[in-house]
Amino acid sequence: MSDDLKQEIKRLRAEIERHNVLYYELSNPCISDYEYDQLVRRLKELETRLGEEERSESPLEKVGSDLSPGAETITHRQRMYSLDNVYSAAELEEWVEKLRLEMEALPDLCAELKIDGFSINLFYEGGTLQYATTRGDGITGEVVTTNVRVLSAIPHNMKYLPAAEIRGEIYIPVQEFLALNEQRQANEEKTFANPRNAAAGSIKLKDSRLVKERHLTAIFYALGYCAELPVATQSGLLKWLHEQGFPTSPHYAVCHSYKEIQAFCDLWESQRYSLPFEIDGIVVKVDELSLQKRLGYTAKSPKWAIAYKFKPEEKETRLLEVQYQVGRTGAVTPVAILEPVYISGTTVSRATLHNEDEIRRLDLHLGDTVRLVKSGEIIPKILEALPEKRPADAAPVGFPTSCPACNSPLEKDEEGAIRYCPNAQCPAQLQRRIEHFASRDAMDITGLGESLIARLLERQMIRGIADIYKLDYERLAELDRFGKKSAANLRVAIEDSKGRNVDRVLFALGIRFVGSITARNLAQYFGDIDSLLKAGLEELSHVREVGSKIAVAIKAYLSLPENLALISELRSLGVNFSYKSEKSSDALDGKTFLLTGTLANYSRKDMESLIQSHGGKLVSGVGPALDYLVVGEKPGSKLDKARKTTTVKIISEAELLALLNPQ
Ligand code: AMP
Ligand code: ZN
Repeated sequence: MSDDLKQEIKRLRAEIERHNVLYYELSNPCISDYEYDQLVRRLKELETRLGEEERSESPLEKVGSDLSPGAETITHRQRMYSLDNVYSAAELEEWVEKLRLEMEALPDLCAELKIDGFSINLFYEGGTLQYATTRGDGITGEVVTTNVRVLSAIPHNMKYLPAAEIRGEIYIPVQEFLALNEQRQANEEKTFANPRNAAAGSIKLKDSRLVKERHLTAIFYALGYCAELPVATQSGLLKWLHEQGFPTSPHYAVCHSYKEIQAFCDLWESQRYSLPFEIDGIVVKVDELSLQKRLGYTAKSPKWAIAYKFKPEEKETRLLEVQYQVGRTGAVTPVAILEPVYISGTTVSRATLHNEDEIRRLDLHLGDTVRLVKSGEIIPKILEALPEKRPADAAPVGFPTSCPACNSPLEKDEEGAIRYCPNAQCPAQLQRRIEHFASRDAMDITGLGESLIARLLERQMIRGIADIYKLDYERLAELDRFGKKSAANLRVAIEDSKGRNVDRVLFALGIRFVGSITARNLAQYFGDIDSLLKAGLEELSHVREVGSKIAVAIKAYLSLPENLALISELRSLGVNFSYKSEKSSDALDGKTFLLTGTLANYSRKDMESLIQSHGGKLVSGVGPALDYLVVGEKPGSKLDKARKTTTVKIISEAELLALLNPQ
């Protein structure tokens, strides 16, 4: 083998290892699945020329690992494998033919949808869910029981009693994913590349309450270890899982020829976007479980199954115009306005261009024909412009030097990637700030949307956020297309919003980096706005998830006179600025708690707020007032003290969680 090829193998291996970490461990891929699969294919091709031993070091021989450092793990009773992939009908046919030769006659094949989620392994014994783990490295998985238990799709019990591992995918329905990203964008939090990554990121969250808010669900399709086989075929297993109370997909077919398989693949390749979840291909499995056993496994995948992967859809369209949008913090984002095209399930007419660098990378000209995909199959992305199809006199796309709304000269941010309008009175920023203030996760003022805000600003009926609470409803009712009824409804919604909890108000103010979660942490910590106003940087950084960058941003916001004036005006107009704690349940009402040692799944602060949110109280020491001592790893002297009493109940983290979720 030539040195060049050896070099290429080395480079590909390193590249694939890097993407494995990004994808499996960090849930933050930087290339599409398709691009990744292409790298894998090329490496596979080259590695066929290597000996067995040299091959064993390849990332292709390992299942990509999702294990987080330091996490609790459990060894799977039966390994969790990956699947071999094919990318074309011809390769799929080849696989089927090989199987026919090997088995003498083609066995029945079960074709199923390949759900693009996050693999999960549930272990049941005596009919009760014992624990849940991720695929991990295929041999051991990461324990995610607490988070999995809160999902309504997961049965806590089943009729079948012998020990069994039940396997499937956890996923976020596409609609929920879009809503989640929209919310994250509004909160200036990082958006997820696709539903799979959102699911993977969610299942490892530290706080189960947040997991619940992500609306994860699941589909099951496999059995790992089981003490007594309940069925003889894969298709029988799918029915059985359904009967046992597991969500399954109704879309599968037992096929008797390649033709039938191809028909199933074609059907779902064209219908995939009508499903409520994402699929990235079709899995074809030998139906008979005894035959599966005979065929066995390679190092990484079963020999009795294959995944036929869909290609991401790509379309060409024309760039009509580039608009420059001013966000509520002043950042100017270029947006490509496209001739509408139907792609991956929706009609797309705009795509973000992110920043100036992206425009330069694409060498965009007005009127260009561009190649479009949806990255992660969801978010429209321009891959490239096609210079050969460029109109002769096309002008290159530039970037404005002054704000499209107020004409102020644009400035660059610290990193130099983003340009923003520095004018605090900029009408475009004001419009966005008011939209944000009224939005669902903020003050939730139904009826006060983009177009009404624009009209109110235009007529100078509002000039800033506080004016929302000083609206002249009679004048409003006389606005064309508005009327008395709408005005009355809006009035109710606006009055209603005055009573929102202070965390929403803090979020609504639009302080840089303060998303709804940080706002909640701030509200819980400080209780009311006065203590927050008095807090210094040091104290701010004690708040959960508030680092120095966020602390500085909060301080900067709260030291500007116009912001302080806004807060005091809102307050005098009747907007609530104190924290009302929201209870998740009364499960721990009237009980007192104390923690000792290190907990496995929660930080001390998180556990304390969890206890409080279920009605429990924390006490500061072991004494007659204490009901429960929660004991973690390496407990301190509190444990010895508690053992000497007869009144304190000593419980583990798991036992505490069981108190919260009585079965
Ligand atoms: P990959 O991660 O690309 O190697 O694909 C293998 C994974 O596909 C498995 O680990 C499963 O988590 C997932 N998968 C999704 N749907 C199915 C299905 N119907 N049958 C088997 N595996 C599936
Ligand atoms: Zn401006």
